[in-house]
Amino acid sequence: MKTNRTFTMIKPDAVAAGHIGAILDMITKSGFKIVALKYTALSAEKAGQFYEVHKERPFYQGLVDFMSSGPIVAAILEKDDAIAEFRKLIGATNPADAAEGTIRKKYAKSIGENAVHGSDSDENAEIEGNFFFSAFERF
Ligand code: UDP
Ligand code: MG
Repeated sequence: MKTNRTFTMIKPDAVAAGHIGAILDMITKSGFKIVALKYTALSAEKAGQFYEVHKERPFYQGLVDFMSSGPIVAAILEKDDAIAEFRKLIGATNPADAAEGTIRKKYAKSIGENAVHGSDSDENAEIEGNFFFSAFERF
């Protein structure tokens, strides 16, 4: 069964470039409801934990360094078929391959510094949302 929630982060590159408002606007205009929202930062340890599945990949250390380099915005989003719909909105991991009009096409700098995170499955959306938010922070 498809659930209707996904998890996102606006990554340090997009926050530093001043794109929080524009990205949240694209998200809400695309029909996502904000269930939870937080301006925070990941320590290197927390970033390492969040991206644990990529631990053996060559880009892991760079990813951890980047994701702990500055503040981020974390959010839980709701829409029918949220995982697929949100992956469509953010575009391909590498902005060079991202479709026109996607968040990564507009705001990502490179395959590493690519502006936003989007969960890849219902199971991971649940795990990732729980990583940042308590039940009292969801509406
Ligand atoms: N990443 C990277 N180099 C790569 C692939 C990925 O630095 O060759 C980073 C990038 O920030 C990406 C994250 O690792 O968003 C997680 O990778 P994944 O393959 O899960 O991409 P996503 O699901 O974010 O599109
Ligand atoms: Mg992924």
